[in-house]
Amino acid sequence: MNAPFPSPNPPASGPSSGKPPLRLLIAAPRGFCAGVDRAIEIVERALELYGAPVYVRHEIVHNKFVVDNLKAKGAVFVESVDQVPDGVPVIFSAHGVPKAVPAKATARGLEWLDATCPLVSKVHRQAERQIADGRHILFIGHAGHPEVIGTFGQVPEGNMTLIETVEDVAAIDVPADRELAYLSQTTLSVDDTAAIIDAILARFPAVVAPKQEDICYATSNRQGAVKQIAPDCDLVLVIGSPKSSNSLRLVEVAERAGSRGQMIQRATDIDPQWLADIATLGLTAGASAPEELVNEVIARIKELREVESEERVTAEEKITFKLPRQLAR
Ligand code: SF4
Repeated sequence: MNAPFPSPNPPASGPSSGKPPLRLLIAAPRGFCAGVDRAIEIVERALELYGAPVYVRHEIVHNKFVVDNLKAKGAVFVESVDQVPDGVPVIFSAHGVPKAVPAKATARGLEWLDATCPLVSKVHRQAERQIADGRHILFIGHAGHPEVIGTFGQVPEGNMTLIETVEDVAAIDVPADRELAYLSQTTLSVDDTAAIIDAILARFPAVVAPKQEDICYATSNRQGAVKQIAPDCDLVLVIGSPKSSNSLRLVEVAERAGSRGQMIQRATDIDPQWLADIATLGLTAGASAPEELVNEVIARIKELREVESEERVTAEEKITFKLPRQLAR
């Protein structure tokens, strides 16, 4: 979801409820980014265009609430194109897929739609260009994340080395006869990635940097917003999924900025004990968590405490992405 952000619910008014007061600092930007908005719209438009069922390879975005809503509308989520019946369209998730995946769908004669975020696709094209220029790629990311698997699958095997930590930089072996370039996953910690890049530059001073930062605007903005509120908070709740890289990073950012951090998927995850004895609570949401869940969490907090809320906006977001041409109206 892009700016403007829906205003958080106003603080409770009227006579005191008798509940202990709580200051609630709500980070903005938070929640849906342009890539997630686009991916969900692709599934919804495909359902309108083709009728149910429409198959989706992997969770379209890492959020159970979003996935369950789309399931209720007729989307079927699978992990492999092999699980898609003949004659049914398939959509690839926002995280991107290795090239072999659309190739397999095409070979089977399946109609497919690509919901890969354009900012992930940009990294894919950079990887191809670096390989075409004869370079070996150092890829900063988290092993096993679908985006990393998808990006590795853009180039022939053996052309990319994964780097997860600063320590990895000292330990890796790279081909001595090739220039190096580095790229990164889009949803990493801005600070950790900067430290890894420093280590790469120290060991390989001639390494070629990406033309633009690979960490996406949504990831940077959400981390920046949490950094702004966390020093004033006793606890920051991050609405997101344990599978969501950018949401996990928000918990880390809150903790490094001096607060405690806690991920929740829904309001029902809140343990009232967490709020006992705290004066200021922070709230944010990962890029795949809808504002509906933010409102649900605020409502639950208000059941427990007399809330005075304040939204702190650290950036405006106006980015939108076009739909694939098959779905453009
Ligand atoms: S978090 Fe960034 S890369 Fe991922 S879908 Fe959103 S805008 Fe795209």
